[in-house]
Amino acid sequence: MKENRILIKSGRLLTEKGEQAADLLIEGEKISAIGSSVSVKGKVKEIDAGGRLVFPGIIDPHVHFELEAYNSFSSDDFLSGSRAAAAGGVTTFIDFAIPSEGQDMASRIREKCASAAKKSIVDFSFHSQITSWGPETPGDMKAAVKEGTASFKIFMPATEGWGLDDYGIYRALQTSAGLQSIIMVHAENGAVSDALAGELVKQGKTDISNFPDARPDIVEREAVSRACVLSDEAGAAVYICHLSGGKSASDLRKLRKEGRDILVETTPPYLILNSEKYKGPDACLYACSPPLRSEQDNYQLWRAVIENSVDTIGTDHCPFKREQKLSGGGSFGNTPMGLGGIENTLELMYTEGVVKRGLSPLHIMRLTSFNSAKIFGLYPEKGTLKEGSDADIVIFNPGKVRTIRARKMFSNCDWSPYEGFSAAGCVETTISRGEVVYSKSGIRAEKGRGIFLKRKAFELP
Ligand SMILES: [Zn+2]
Repeated sequence: MKENRILIKSGRLLTEKGEQAADLLIEGEKISAIGSSVSVKGKVKEIDAGGRLVFPGIIDPHVHFELEAYNSFSSDDFLSGSRAAAAGGVTTFIDFAIPSEGQDMASRIREKCASAAKKSIVDFSFHSQITSWGPETPGDMKAAVKEGTASFKIFMPATEGWGLDDYGIYRALQTSAGLQSIIMVHAENGAVSDALAGELVKQGKTDISNFPDARPDIVEREAVSRACVLSDEAGAAVYICHLSGGKSASDLRKLRKEGRDILVETTPPYLILNSEKYKGPDACLYACSPPLRSEQDNYQLWRAVIENSVDTIGTDHCPFKREQKLSGGGSFGNTPMGLGGIENTLELMYTEGVVKRGLSPLHIMRLTSFNSAKIFGLYPEKGTLKEGSDADIVIFNPGKVRTIRARKMFSNCDWSPYEGFSAAGCVETTISRGEVVYSKSGIRAEKGRGIFLKRKAFELP
């Protein structure tokens, strides 16, 4: 049931101009008024947000629902994944449309849209993926932008099956600049990681505790720096996905200080978890790409976040159930890579960022919503609390402590990387285009209510 009018009373609104104690009125799907005392005649549903933080709906720019991999699928589909999203305050997610061999990007986007539209309870969009470079690719990219997806993912390690060589990356960057779109890179050096993995296998060191040695710092650091050189020469902006290493973070900080258009995403696992996990009893569960790194890397990545050298928090939500993770027999080469977490972004970032490290809630708002809206062409409909914007809103209780438990979450996955984590606040209500989709009473949204968001040109945040 869609409420026509909702008045959110006395919240701490996180707006572009700053934190503002105010009321917020929703009419239909839009925010219609913000003010110190909004009065309304006639029927209106009131939500008391006293003492609560009010965020624009979280935008997760990096998720993989129904990803076909390792002879199976990631464990969340568009329904369970979007329900988990709603419970975590995420009102928009951007997944990936990876063309199959010989398929053009635009038709893959339409296929993915059709399956998401049947199931998703929140709004969604897709990044295209460039899996090879040929004379037809520039035209293909142009058609994809016309379809409403002004962003392209590139895998640098050719060995992941979708990788592009340096010539292809350079041409893609040039083409992207002309289309006012953005290239996102998975930055790892496949030649180095493959050779290192090969040496480990030869020595019989195949179990997961050896995984970090197969992809040490150099693997990410070299690829990040190459991506930055290629983008500079191509005159294009570049977006580094899921930054994991402290050394790469420090290189990027220097380049950004020079004013280069390099956008940086990191994910909660690289900020909060570390490679000690590969020594524990559930080591296999934590296989992800790049691997979890050291505590020192966590520290350096937080420093980058604090110094505004990270733009967005994505989750790279790509969970696999225990059984799927264990199907690899404990070897790093055969274990499905990926972690879930879309349901936890805000509570994790609030606890670790605001409570433990003194970041402002506004900073968290920019990392989890506003910056992604700008970079991925969703602004000003999404990513901001202002009159006329979509009424995508999260009411967050900063005083409510809760312990993260996989069995209480909406994701289909049967375990969580954050099991037992004590969060210092939690999402109470999620509103998507004027409709309460999540509240204390659970998920209330109809399957398939989410819509595909056609995105505009890339903009620097
Ligand atoms: Zn990913």
